[in-house]
Amino acid sequence: MIQLPLSKLSNVGTTIFSQMTQLANENEAINLSQGFPDFTPDSELLDHVDHFIKKGFNQYAPMGGMIGLKEEIARKIENSHQAIYHPDSEITVTAGGTQAIFTAIATFVKKDDEVIIFEPAYDCYEPTVELFGGIVKRFEMKAPDYEIDWSTVKNLVSDKTKMIILNNPNNPSGKILKENDIQELIKIVEGTSILILSDEVYENIVFDGKQHLSICKYPELKERSLLVASFGKLFHVTGWKIGYCAAPKSLTDEFRKVHQFNVFSVNTPIQLALAEYMKNPDHYNHLNQFFQEKRDFLRKGLANTSFELLDCEGTYFQALKYDKISDKNDFDFASELTINHKVASVPFSSFYKNKLNENVIRLCFAKKQETLERAIENLSKI
Ligand code: GLN
Repeated sequence: MIQLPLSKLSNVGTTIFSQMTQLANENEAINLSQGFPDFTPDSELLDHVDHFIKKGFNQYAPMGGMIGLKEEIARKIENSHQAIYHPDSEITVTAGGTQAIFTAIATFVKKDDEVIIFEPAYDCYEPTVELFGGIVKRFEMKAPDYEIDWSTVKNLVSDKTKMIILNNPNNPSGKILKENDIQELIKIVEGTSILILSDEVYENIVFDGKQHLSICKYPELKERSLLVASFGKLFHVTGWKIGYCAAPKSLTDEFRKVHQFNVFSVNTPIQLALAEYMKNPDHYNHLNQFFQEKRDFLRKGLANTSFELLDCEGTYFQALKYDKISDKNDFDFASELTINHKVASVPFSSFYKNKLNENVIRLCFAKKQETLERAIENLSKI
């Protein structure tokens, strides 16, 4: 028996999304935990994939991605945010948002570099920073408003701060950054070399006519930012694992040095299919409305229950406070809900390093009407 080397991530287990999905499956519960749609993507997109596979586009794509897709991405960013990225030298197609985030951190974070994150935080940020010897500094956003106190954030900045990671719209809270947040951020990074990694995978899912403020809208931020987005969220194909990273050439050059050894390149026929499909912006411009209807349906259905519905400005997640129902911690409550009431959710404490429990769970509403109806029925009995 060999002696196992010390774990590089001794505090990390299986992600909460896999855990809750497994619990949902074991208990035949309605799975509103892991964020993925349970409806089929547009058949037009599927037909494009079929077409390109059969036409013989089945070998390696260029390392940074197929030029046609990168051009469509550049066009989308320009139309949505009036920001220009050069398709060939500033956009890299990645194997999903998580790989783009991993590669960005791997590229820039060295031992003892400090990285600021905002909690509740998506689960991959912290372990990835630690894997490369970085130190995470966290600001805890709290229920019910999940506001950022920028003067506290400013105190987290030191001469070792290498990167700030943003997630806008925020998974799991559904909060979006406002103009004043961005202006405060600009003041904090002005005159420093701090990089920004902006995870905007839910950028096209923002409600009530509110505006998604992408990092790339602001030249002072764009020059230091790596912007990450995901086609899984945009076109209901999370299993395709494809996304991209847009960043100025100097940052992209470095990013690609790692990317080429991390994945080299991404699925060719799917890149071609996405490029074709993106030519029609209606394919993603309706998304806000599409998901707003689902959000509203879920909120209306739960309005008369004892759950408190927190604000949901974006993403396909609804946060529920349950303290009128139970004083169990959120992990135990979410497990009980899955086992006894057949609805799986994700406890918010898993998005905090210190497992902050504020009795809040997350439900994913990227689901068919019928799935949402069944979940509402079960939750209404509590
Ligand atoms: N982004 C998805 C969520 O927040 C999960 C993706 C995953 O399971 N890694 O639920």
